Amino acid sequence: MSIEFIYPEFEVIRNESRCTSCRICQKQCANEVHFYNIETKRMECDESKCVNCHRCVSFCPTRALKIVKSDCSFRENANWSETTMKEIYKQANSGGVLLSSMGNPNPLPVYWDRILINASQVTNPPIDPLREPMETRVYLGKKSEKVHRLPDGTLDCELPPQLELSMPVMFSAMSYGSISYNAHKSLALAAKELGILYNTGEGGLHEDFYCYGENTIVQVASGRFGVHEKYLKAGAGIEIKMGQGAKPGIGGHLPGTKIIGDVSRTRMIPEGSDAISPAPHHDIYSIEDLRQLVYSLKEATEYKKPVIVKVAAVHNIAAIASGIARSGADIIAIDGFRGGTGAAPARIRDNVGIPVEIALAAVDQRLRDEGIRNNVSIVVGGSIRNSADVIKAIALGADACYIATAALLALGCHLCRTCQSGKCNWGIATQRPELVKRLNPETGSQRLINLMNAWNHEIKELMGGMGINSIEALRGNRLMLRGIGLTEKELEILGISHAGEC
Ligand code: SF4
Ligand code: SF4
Ligand code: SF4
Repeated sequence: MSIEFIYPEFEVIRNESRCTSCRICQKQCANEVHFYNIETKRMECDESKCVNCHRCVSFCPTRALKIVKSDCSFRENANWSETTMKEIYKQANSGGVLLSSMGNPNPLPVYWDRILINASQVTNPPIDPLREPMETRVYLGKKSEKVHRLPDGTLDCELPPQLELSMPVMFSAMSYGSISYNAHKSLALAAKELGILYNTGEGGLHEDFYCYGENTIVQVASGRFGVHEKYLKAGAGIEIKMGQGAKPGIGGHLPGTKIIGDVSRTRMIPEGSDAISPAPHHDIYSIEDLRQLVYSLKEATEYKKPVIVKVAAVHNIAAIASGIARSGADIIAIDGFRGGTGAAPARIRDNVGIPVEIALAAVDQRLRDEGIRNNVSIVVGGSIRNSADVIKAIALGADACYIATAALLALGCHLCRTCQSGKCNWGIATQRPELVKRLNPETGSQRLINLMNAWNHEIKELMGGMGINSIEALRGNRLMLRGIGLTEKELEILGISHAGEC
């Protein structure tokens, strides 16, 4: 071995007494880890290529396989951890930026886990969601500050365009190209069945998916890939992507090797050319510029579609959100620093941005203080993991949540964090036809529907426990939350009391 050798991160453990040499693991692994040695007549493997995606483990018919983290260690050093050392070796070998995918995996505070939800006792009885009607429907868009009456005295019930959701969760932006046709189809089918929305991401809308337009948010990003009038009119709403929580301040790069066939046609760029989204929109350098794009999109769609502006959670997010709320946008989407991505420089993903819980609380408070909270709805994403996170987000001030990683997990993702390789063994983050067909859209959509139905049931139970029968009555109701193990400053920013305080 040479100076470039790095001991594999994972070891493949094969129980020889169970292995029948059926070679299913070999067929299932696009990373070419497993192979059959005809001389020894045994299955062997090259563990250096294993990314711990669990595909072979799941498909081995005799349960002969498991993947374990290698225990080949370096001498302990609190300052120079094993991960840090290996990253330096990799960069010294390649001279390149360290790429990774999915969300920030580092053990930074997850505030959702330090916030607890209230329940009614004695004086304010809980509501039984199995016996009482519970409303989880939400409408996203501008609302009136006051009740208006028409000249004849009747109530003015006209509202600016709204997005209607049967529950306060949507599937967030994942582009066709970064994920597969079958993954997009699974999301579209599930969104339609559930009465919620999925998001095209920045890769345009495949012609087969125009029929799901009522359940689609079409995205306009800095590269403007696949954007044209028919596309803008196809969706229920339009999202301007200004930033992404996993990589604030930088653009995107889908390599030319993935720009093939339908991906190239949908993005409207030549096959084999890299799809590079610039860091800024080259026509937006101020809120006034943003306003021009917001109104251009409204004009192009006859003022029938709400416009979302999506930004990464960064240090001055409250001031930015205040500007967006005045730009004419109908909805602000805030993407926290644990949000996922199909590919990002690991240093950026792991070190830039702020947690979405903090950003949400700061934005909601700022908009309330300025009297413009009803100008916009707030949607948050970036590691919403379960129904309790959704409830906490709504009580902190959100109108709805975006989920992506949780949705991909439902589709089979095992968080191996190598989406950028294009060799996703679960048929999600890949364009290789033999891998794409591993994800059956009917199965995928049913799993998403199951997940969302389970969450909605839990949301109703949590609401009932608080004595609340409508999710809109929970929005911004921070009295329903208490912090645990948080500093005074953290509690102040979150706008909640500590557990034990009345
Ligand atoms: S799938 Fe299981 S039984 Fe078949 S060759 Fe691999 S380890 Fe052996
Ligand atoms: S990369 Fe995935 S399929 Fe291949 S050996 Fe590792 S866990 Fe198994
Ligand atoms: S989508 Fe596929 S490649 Fe990406 S983390 Fe999940 S399993 Fe791995």
